[in-house]
Amino acid sequence: MTESPDGSETRTGSQRVCGACSLCCTLLRVDALAKLGGTPCRHQLVGNPEGGCGIHARRPNICRGYRCLWLSGSLEESDRPDRLGAVLSLTTEAETPTLFVHEARRGAFDASPRLQEIANVWRESMPVRVADSESVMDPDRPQRVLLPGGEEHIVVGDRVSVRRPGRPDVERRLPLLDRSLRRASIAFRRAYLRWMVARRR
Ligand code: SF4
Ligand code: SF4
Repeated sequence: MTESPDGSETRTGSQRVCGACSLCCTLLRVDALAKLGGTPCRHQLVGNPEGGCGIHARRPNICRGYRCLWLSGSLEESDRPDRLGAVLSLTTEAETPTLFVHEARRGAFDASPRLQEIANVWRESMPVRVADSESVMDPDRPQRVLLPGGEEHIVVGDRVSVRRPGRPDVERRLPLLDRSLRRASIAFRRAYLRWMVARRR
């Protein structure tokens, strides 16, 4: 069975099950339910060992299809997201495979040697993007991207801070085209988030 992010019935080729974990049901966005990222789903059964979804049989397709990196069989058995403190997802950004680390709470990544260990392995083959879900309503929230060789980019608004081991930090503005695209993207996201919030009322 390859099912959803929602409970003990979920199984994959690795035979892992979500069990009492339902962290993605809090951290991730579900448009079909007008649910914002970083807010618990109204159907979520937190910590229920029998499974985390109160509408398992009629949950949205996006929920049926989602599998975090751990459920897909990567990482160690002990790295279940609710124990790890983050949901890790493989995604594609601008046609580039990317590992997204959704922190359960702000600072979880910096506080977790295991999360840092995982990121240090994956950043050598693809960008690793780290973000908390507490400031999800702020499209300007810092985006932290970990790259090979210890390089790290922090993007806040139009500004990028580039850190490389053994070299001074470099602060610069995004190129004009990137700034324009980013502003358009932020404007779209602000409008979209306002619409999502209005739908929830
Ligand atoms: S975060 Fe992963 S293990 Fe936890 S409920 Fe979602 S899919 Fe299952
Ligand atoms: S509908 Fe169920 S599986 Fe989907 S986010 Fe809500 S609790 Fe999770």
